[in-house]
Amino acid sequence: MQDACARDITYLRLSVTDLCDLRCRYCMPAEGVCKRPHSEICSVEELVEITRQTVALGVRKVRLTGGEPLVRRGILEICRGIAALEGVDELCLTTNGTALSRMARPLREVGVTRLNVSLDTLRPDRYAYITRGGRLEEVFQGLKAVAEAGFSKTKLNVVLMKGFNDGEIPDFIDLSCRYPIEVRFIELMPIGEGKNGPFLPADAVLEAHPGLLPLEGSGVARRYRSPGGRGTVGLIEPMSHQFCDRCDRIRVTADGKLKPCLHSDQEIPLRGLTGEALREAIRKGIAAKPPRHHMAETGRSDATRNMNQIGG
Ligand code: SAM
Ligand code: SF4
Repeated sequence: MQDACARDITYLRLSVTDLCDLRCRYCMPAEGVCKRPHSEICSVEELVEITRQTVALGVRKVRLTGGEPLVRRGILEICRGIAALEGVDELCLTTNGTALSRMARPLREVGVTRLNVSLDTLRPDRYAYITRGGRLEEVFQGLKAVAEAGFSKTKLNVVLMKGFNDGEIPDFIDLSCRYPIEVRFIELMPIGEGKNGPFLPADAVLEAHPGLLPLEGSGVARRYRSPGGRGTVGLIEPMSHQFCDRCDRIRVTADGKLKPCLHSDQEIPLRGLTGEALREAIRKGIAAKPPRHHMAETGRSDATRNMNQIGG
């Protein structure tokens, strides 16, 4: 289905939980979030039904996110149910990677096609700092398991932070040369805990590496590769190179609210609806997609939730 700006909506980002085993400083409050009663969060069946109806309206790619999707009870059942839906071409999952050493293979077996792993630093002390206690070694083990399970086109999400990981840009580029992965540098967004964060424009990557060769873009990313590199480099620049005219996505939160735009606080409740009534609510959400966000002008997102409550 097209929205009012003639954008084809083909991509659903579905959050399966607000909870997480880490507490990244730009995403979650130090105290974490209160665990909500199960009844407030969509069940496995509801998540599959919501996805089924978005697919009926033209969605072809689904990404599971959170919070941390791998802490959600029933995550494999959710994946299996969505992978079995006719019309789903890609089922992806974004994870912090801490559980991948045991979960990579089962995820592959239930039909997950691709993984994005979030990793902002390659130094154990910095990792423990930014995640408030995470162990980097777990993510390295997880990445190894991802390759062994046979996943390809894995992406590494790196949120750029001035004074924190700008000195590591060459190390991440080096990773993209040595492994067949895409390292995606993402601009920090002024949303939730990320407000007033140490913003660094993604152009800093190009300044540090003028030799990167441009490739055809993909979705909302500008893409590059190093001469002779096995992998690629992507830049996601919501702040400095707005890509709203190419936006092809809707989001659904773990409590069943459709968000037409990450940066708007408009939410359409989907819970309790099935079949045609659910489809009608999703149509309404797609029609309500705003043309663009206004973060570059206002310096803030209009979304009222933290990122862990939306899914990035
Ligand atoms: N827990 C999973 C993970 O970390 O990959 C999935 C959820 S997390 C909210 C999804 C992505 O959003 C992660 O790559 C994270 O780094 C990114 N993110 C969170 N807060 C952000 C912010 N304020 N600006 C930019 N990216 C952010
Ligand atoms: Fe958890 Fe992901 Fe947010 Fe970090 S970015 S606190 S891993 S949800």
